Amino acid sequence: TERTLSIIKPDATRRNLTGKINAKFEDAGLRIVAQKRIQLTIAQAQQFYAVHSERPFFGELTEFMASAPVVVQVLEGEGAIAKNREVMGATNPADAAAGTIRAEFAESVGENSVHGSDAPETAREEIAFFFSGLELV
Ligand code: ATP
Ligand code: MG
Repeated sequence: TERTLSIIKPDATRRNLTGKINAKFEDAGLRIVAQKRIQLTIAQAQQFYAVHSERPFFGELTEFMASAPVVVQVLEGEGAIAKNREVMGATNPADAAAGTIRAEFAESVGENSVHGSDAPETAREEIAFFFSGLELV
């Protein structure tokens, strides 16, 4: 089975949507095997999203990610990376398929409720960014 890193973003934690979002993951067959609520600093958000540092929305994105607590989690299941991205829906909620997390909950292309790793290598790196070996069983 595969593991992926998921983040419930500040727009969703502010609106108390953690449980509804987790129900979507569990209904899709993804198991939440690690989870914690943390407050990112701007510097940590910049480090996490370093791949986007040249994009015009980098400042907005990193300030948003540090604007309130986030819930970081490891999801496990058969094809977890692809399955999670399917449940999340398209980056822009206007393009997200009906029933997906972003279609139901996201507020805009920036404040889009969830993050999910996009490939096995990034999943490994992103899990290690937030979780120690002791926290993963
Ligand atoms: P994520 O990486 O968060 O799972 P994604 O892979 O669907 O989302 P990316 O292209 O990797 O999307 O962009 C990372 C994040 O940057 C998006 O989730 C969104 O929060 C923000 N973002 C992307 N495009 C824009 C934009 N045009 N304006 C503002 N913010 C954006
Ligand atoms: Mg991405």
